[in-house]
Amino acid sequence: MYRILRIFFIFVILFTVQGNAYARKIHPPLNPLPSREGNIHTINDVYVIHLIVDGTNYETMQRAIRAGKLPTVKETFIDNGAQFMSAISTFPSTSTSAYQSFITGLLPGHAGIPHLQRFDRQQEEFIDYLSASGYLKLGDDVINLDALQNPSVANLDATNTIFELLHGYPTLALYTTARRGAAESIPKRIPIRGLWAAGVSHDYLQIDQLAFNKLLKQYGGKLDKIPRYSLVGLYSSDVCGHHEGADSDAVITALIQFDYFLRDFLKLLEEQGIRDRTYIIVSADHGMHDTGNLFLFREALIERNIAVSSRNPRMKNYNVVPAERGISSTHV
Ligand SMILES: [Zn+2]
Repeated sequence: MYRILRIFFIFVILFTVQGNAYARKIHPPLNPLPSREGNIHTINDVYVIHLIVDGTNYETMQRAIRAGKLPTVKETFIDNGAQFMSAISTFPSTSTSAYQSFITGLLPGHAGIPHLQRFDRQQEEFIDYLSASGYLKLGDDVINLDALQNPSVANLDATNTIFELLHGYPTLALYTTARRGAAESIPKRIPIRGLWAAGVSHDYLQIDQLAFNKLLKQYGGKLDKIPRYSLVGLYSSDVCGHHEGADSDAVITALIQFDYFLRDFLKLLEEQGIRDRTYIIVSADHGMHDTGNLFLFREALIERNIAVSSRNPRMKNYNVVPAERGISSTHV
């Protein structure tokens, strides 16, 4: 459900002053707060928030809507908003490489953030994602760290994220590794409570509850502190999909919780008097399929006597690494 064109809509909403006389008349463009780099952009008096229902299978979402389980989503986006029916994710179809596209508008290979897992040709070593088994396997988010988070990195193709373009305005990166230039990033470093909920207590719904609480706090404050642009990662649906199946009751429950949250959030925008000036985008970042059950990729390779990588990182005698993350892509 990832929309490659989304970034353009966000640009249009935030930066286009010409061509919308009505909006210009009612809500004059704003000047950013003074910044060290100087004021660069003038923006419209609007707010944009992008909520990523991470790793949600399109059909599962549609079925939940048809069954009447997501009344706020239906009313807000289907009855009174816009839906995009034909869109594709990035490749590789993984969270980080898709999230970066949302803030750069670029495909992963052009953004300095080309991967989540990869094979390092120099080291002849497979670099995995969020694995603690050896320094090379610390996870590509570490390798991607500069491109994702450090605004002063000069040697990148992608020189501007939306956050950087909005320098001087309040912006928020919530539960997303792609955050370069965001005025505020939550959590600052490692999402300890979220990781605990996902990996230890298995309270998958709590991951989104933590995010929702932060978001309500952020948008419930003073008007001049409310982010003009927010990118929000909501991982409950993704974790439920990985553990219980892409179309499981657990995913539906996570979506229902999201619907409740959306209702409360819209109410808060109303109370703050900015609902009619807030553009809300809901998307996934990649799909979710039960590839482990549908397609026994690793087993099929082993059956054909192909030396595949072991789940034990110390086993080095392999020449094929099956990457089967259970989302949109299965690749070697
Ligand atoms: Zn994801």
